[in-house]
Order: sequence, then C-alpha cells, then structure tokens
Amino acid sequence: MKKMIQSNEDNKHALKTQAKACGYRSKRKCKNVIPKDECGVVALYNVPSASKIAYLALYALQHRGQESAGIVTSHESRLCIKKGMGLVNEVFREESDFQILPGNSAIGHVRYSTSGGTSIENSQPLQIVYRRGSLAVAHNGNIVNALELRKNLERTGAIFHTSVDTEVLLHLLARNVGNFEDALISALSIVKGAFSLVMMSENKIILARDPNGFRPLILGKLGEGWIAASETCAFDLVGAEFIREVEPGEIIFIDESGLRSRFLAPAAHQSLCLFELIYFSRPDSFIFGNSVHEIRVKLGEKLAETHPADADVVISVPDSSNASALGYAKKAGLPFSFGLIRSHYIGRTFIEPDQKIRDFGARIKYNPVASTLKGKRVVLVDDSIVRGTTSKKIVRLIKKAGAKEVHMRIICPPWTHPCRYGIDTPSIDQLIAHNLTVDKMKKEIGVNSLEFLSVQDLFDITGNCSYCTACMDGNYPVEFSDESKIDARREDDE
Ligand code: SF4
Repeated sequence: MKKMIQSNEDNKHALKTQAKACGYRSKRKCKNVIPKDECGVVALYNVPSASKIAYLALYALQHRGQESAGIVTSHESRLCIKKGMGLVNEVFREESDFQILPGNSAIGHVRYSTSGGTSIENSQPLQIVYRRGSLAVAHNGNIVNALELRKNLERTGAIFHTSVDTEVLLHLLARNVGNFEDALISALSIVKGAFSLVMMSENKIILARDPNGFRPLILGKLGEGWIAASETCAFDLVGAEFIREVEPGEIIFIDESGLRSRFLAPAAHQSLCLFELIYFSRPDSFIFGNSVHEIRVKLGEKLAETHPADADVVISVPDSSNASALGYAKKAGLPFSFGLIRSHYIGRTFIEPDQKIRDFGARIKYNPVASTLKGKRVVLVDDSIVRGTTSKKIVRLIKKAGAKEVHMRIICPPWTHPCRYGIDTPSIDQLIAHNLTVDKMKKEIGVNSLEFLSVQDLFDITGNCSYCTACMDGNYPVEFSDESKIDARREDDE
C-alpha cells in the first residue's frame, strides 16, 4: 500500500477530527470512528469520454451524496484521479478537469454529507498502488465489522490513510495471496454488512454487491460498452440501456474478454433496504425490481385504505412524499394540493438572523401556502419521522398558516432503531419512536391524529419480504459489534 503512508499519530488525529466534525459529543465513544456513508457509485467500461459520462451519471446521483465527488479513469495502464469536496459541478468545473481524466473506463462516487464532517482523505474513489498494480474503489454501504478488522490489521502493522470502512477491504485484498479475483473474493467474504462496490484496475472493472443486497447496483449497456450505477436515473441521463440488477452476492468482472460473474456464499435471507424505496432513491429510478414512484404511490393508497381521515385536503412534505400524498388523495377521494413549498436553492444555512425567528431552519426550507391551508382539515403525508423535530416545526408552520386540523400519515413504520448498513440516523435515544408511544408522539408533534403503515403493509405493497426492516423492528439481518454503532444525523431531520 505504497500510497497509504501516514503516521499513526496523524491517523488518530484524523479520526478525532472526523469524530468532532461529525458532531460526536464527548460522552459518546468517538475513538476510532468509522464514518458511515450513503453514497452513489458509477462505473463505465469501454465508453468513449468515460470521465464526462461518469460526471453526468454522478450528476444524476447527486441526491445520494453531496459532501464530495470523485472520478478515476484508466488510461494507458495507469489510473488518473480527480476528486474534491462539494457537489459534482463544484468539483468538476472546466474542460481541463476532464483533460486530466483520459480513457474509456472510469469509476465515480458521490458521498453523503453528514453533519458537517468533511474530509478529502475520506472522499472516494480511494486509489492505491500495491504489488498487483493500481486499483481504485468506490463504495456505497457500511461494513459493520470494519472496526474489528481494522484493529486486527493495525496490530499487524497496517497503516491507514483514511477513516472510511472501505480502506479495510483494500488492506485485506492487498494481503491475500493468489490471483486478483481469488484474493478479492476472499476479502469480500470476510467483510460483513452492506457494500455495493465499483472497482477499477488498469484493465478491468469490477462490480460487487453484498450477499444481503442492502444497496442497489444496476448494470446497463452504453453503446459498445458497459455501465453500472446505484440507480437507473443515471442511465436515463446518459442514454444507457437497463440490462439487469447486479445480484446480491454477485461479483462481475468486465474486461476485454467480456463479462463474467462469480458469487459469494449466499446470505440466509436477502435484506434489500426498504428505505431506498421509501425515501432515498430518486422516484424516477427503478430498483429492486420496482419503479420507486409507483411503489410510493401505492404506499400512499395503502395509507388511505388503512388510516382514513375526515379531512378537506391532502398535502405532502415535498419532495420525497409527493407521490405518496398523490396516492393517498386518489384513494381517499380527496383533493391533493401544495400546502408547503420547498426551496430548492438552499444548502445548509449556518447564519441565523440576529433576531431569533422561531423554526427558522424549517422555515427557510419550507414555506406554507396559506390559501391551501386556511380553515382546512389537512392530511399531511410524509415519508418518515426520525427525531420528530422537523415534523413538529412543519406542523407548527401549517397551523400558523390557518389549518384547522392536521392529520399526519407516514408511509414508513415508526423508526425505532438506528440503521447500521449505510444510512445516517441518530443514536437510538434520539429516535422519537423508540422513546414514545404513537399517542405520545402525536401530542409531542402537535397533530390531531398520527398513523403509520406497518411492516406487513410494506411487504404487501412490494410483493415480497426480502427486505431489511431493522430500523423499523430492530431485527438486524447482519450482526454488528457495539463499537460500530455510530451516531450521526440525517440532514432532513435537523
Ligand atoms: S436498517 Fe432501515 S435504512 Fe438501514 S438498511 Fe435496513 S431498512 Fe434500510
């Protein structure tokens, strides 16, 4: 691992800085923090101007990560890299950014922004030079035994350059003997948890999905070449053709001899992330065999069927619950209208006006439409409630705008446990549904009624039960060590 040379002291400092930046309070264990990512990945093989196509694909996947972006290309037996902090169009601004990324193969990555924790070292793709040559990797998910593996590797002399879990995989791969493919399979058999990976050596692209299949990874064709991405919305933008999803546990090698698959040992059950369908993926994507938009509409219809309300109008918390609110309104025979307008042009604001404005954070993001709300009994459809603080503020805004009653309907069952598989959530004590009954949540949020879909409702709508539901029922499909519990926040629930 020639490029990953950094002193242990520096490394400890980087971990501490990362922990601080991620908002870990002193009472929490912030030693050896491995940040969790919810990210987007893309890979291209034999596609002219691969870096530009990767850029466009990452642009389409921007919702999966706004902290950093990066692309690595392969050209004349060497890997070329550019990555940086910020949005895709902030990192790649000019033609010259692509001139340093020649070649017909590329991988790219966008990383989720946690609560301010930013570090160029942790941005991806990670690139190494080791005894087999050069290798780059981009990862979506969370390796739950990374900390344990990292400690073992450090005990035997490994020096880490980043604090991301993905680097553990690279160390394992570098140490394994045998040919590259066998060494990779052996390394992937040791790591546990969620990984949808794209990798690139000088002459091949590798796609890998964990046996539980937590995160999506889709394979497509682009001209004479191949493309893979976290979601199909990336294919639409570049004109690629959907071929199929990478199977859970499948490792696909693509090189000049074509495409071939090998498989990891299967998991006892598949555990596709239900929250990808509920919230995280773009509605115009097709993942886990479903149209995300259609599923969200059906979830809204199911909510109307199971939890009707005497109301005058149905509104959504834009944008992620728009489709479900439409489904609810259609099924309930109520009008759908826009009761909240979301500003699309803000990032995060750290400057509050001198004069304290109540609910400033929610206000700057959502503005109520008084003409929709005044004097009305409103059904407010949302995708999920995590800490409950944003819901409370939104309800206050709606009531202040004149709504007579607010009936909240949520497509995600009560979120009672943190995710360990790659979606940032607060610690368990901060989850409102873990601490309060639905009746108490109703009072805390300030609504006239509050209802959720059940896990069984979700299975009924998606048509199967090969899903992870750990955040909704605490049944974690892959064991994790206590030390891998990482506290972080979802941006939408600030
Ligand atoms: S715990 Fe929830 S968010 Fe995490 S993978 Fe499972 S379903 Fe998805």
